[in-house]
Amino acid sequence: MGEPIRVGVVYPGLLGTYGDRGNAEVLVWRLRRRGHAAEVVDLPPQQPVPAGLDAYMLGGGEDLNQGAAAKLLLSQEGRGLRVALEGGAPALAVCGSLQLLGEVYMDGAGRQVPGLRMLDLRTVASGPRSVGEVVARMPGGSLLTGFENHGGRTVLGATAEPLATVVRGNGNNGQDGTEGTRRGNLFATYLHGPVLARNPELADAIVRAVLERRGAPTVLEPIEDDPGASLHDARLRAAGFDPRTGRAVSPVTGWLRRRYRVSAGGR
Ligand code: GLN
Repeated sequence: MGEPIRVGVVYPGLLGTYGDRGNAEVLVWRLRRRGHAAEVVDLPPQQPVPAGLDAYMLGGGEDLNQGAAAKLLLSQEGRGLRVALEGGAPALAVCGSLQLLGEVYMDGAGRQVPGLRMLDLRTVASGPRSVGEVVARMPGGSLLTGFENHGGRTVLGATAEPLATVVRGNGNNGQDGTEGTRRGNLFATYLHGPVLARNPELADAIVRAVLERRGAPTVLEPIEDDPGASLHDARLRAAGFDPRTGRAVSPVTGWLRRRYRVSAGGR
């Protein structure tokens, strides 16, 4: 492979709540572990977003920063990102960025913030904030773990597929059980963490999309002693789920198991 794989972090100073920049670092780490040269490229707001990167990471942001980022990304400065996403570039949008890629965001102050209209969803800030651990099931059955903190409630449009189904927490709106959305190689979620550090399967789905577009083999060797896998299981256990069965463990049983050091499958 020629040029190193470049993973862009869009406006890290505006869209960087809860260390979402770590998603780019995790992606690059997982690519390198599979023998690919890869690097993180910060994309500050003072310059146009290049259209030719291999992947784009967009993090969460408070309402004010999010509004500023949305405005820039809708301007000429953001054209590169819009072109890249329309062309199927792999990307991850977290929380505020999920909202700004939708049709519109009505923020906490009642301002209407037009979105990039890349995702069929609308968001209104209302009611108490959704804060806490989330566990959600992906279509293949595996569990996502993450931390949510948002005032916006998102409703997916008729053409949008959810990324996962909420098992614990609120996800998109606390009502319909949907969490995030996926449109081809564009993954959007409310989960912080950073989410790719806690969910190696999701990270590798993006890794595969990146490699596929480079014409490289997409069969990934498992990573030995994968820290992502241990973190995933630890966070699921902390949220009261058995990582092996994917089922909720009752708090009493969980406490007893820990107290007597009995494994989840033990007698
Ligand atoms: N401003 C958005 C909200 O509160 C997004 C917050 C975030 O990105 N954590 O809904």
